[in-house]
Amino acid sequence: MAKIFCVANQKGGVGKTTTTVNLAAGLAILKQRVLLVDLDPQGNATMGAGINKAELTASTYEVLVGMSDVVTARQTSQAGQFDVLPSNRELAGAEVEMVDLERRERRLKDALALVDEQYDFILIDCPPALSMLTLNGLCAAHGVIIPMQCEYYALEGLSDLVNTIKKVHANLNQDLKIIGLLRVMFDPRMTLSQQVSAQLEQHFGDKVFKTIIPRNVRLAEAPSYGMPGVNFDAASKGAQAYIAFGAEMVERISAM
Ligand code: ATP
Ligand code: MG
Repeated sequence: MAKIFCVANQKGGVGKTTTTVNLAAGLAILKQRVLLVDLDPQGNATMGAGINKAELTASTYEVLVGMSDVVTARQTSQAGQFDVLPSNRELAGAEVEMVDLERRERRLKDALALVDEQYDFILIDCPPALSMLTLNGLCAAHGVIIPMQCEYYALEGLSDLVNTIKKVHANLNQDLKIIGLLRVMFDPRMTLSQQVSAQLEQHFGDKVFKTIIPRNVRLAEAPSYGMPGVNFDAASKGAQAYIAFGAEMVERISAM
């Protein structure tokens, strides 16, 4: 059975997609079978995996509203060697349409049951909102990975996310837990980064991943080549960090 993780934070631009795509690629290098689910109408994870979001015949949207299934809609990232359930702006329509469908919060969970046995990891890239789409992600998952920048406002909004996760845990998905907070875009030369990072460790202890993802321009450049950073420049500090994070995740799930 696959372990299913949401990469979520309702703040925009905190590194969710970069984390999902590069963790998928890092896990693939570690010989794990991975499906990346793009649950964001922006389709950034789809493009970052090297799949053209303008040319999809089936996507997460069709799967959620019951017009297709995961086996039909999935594609393979050639660069990353993992599978992708791709998305584009059509997915925004699902937000509205799902409201009238049965088991509306569990559409993704039900859809993923079809391929559960085929993967070790299913990683879900959530949009920057606590919306019906994110709720579907949280209902489908065993755990949440929360990427955070170590800046002054990092903790603001975290309580909203934690409360949402608690509510989902209580009412919809008892499996759900916070797997960990991932420090991303880290700049060790900034005193503030060091301070916020230390605060996170104090507050959240074991829930903070050991791996720290540095700010690294190669990770930001890679999507324009349709490649995960991990494959685009495997020797870069960013790639090495995401491969290390993959190893940390493999270790964590063996203890789960
Ligand atoms: P959204 O909320 O819009 O979905 P996001 O949380 O998915 O955004 P990303 O798209 O992953 O965030 O990252 C935001 C920007 O920061 C992108 O331009 C990305 O290339 C860049 N970025 C992410 N991580 C790093 C990093 N470690 N080093 C340098 N740039 C990074
Ligand atoms: Mg994103």
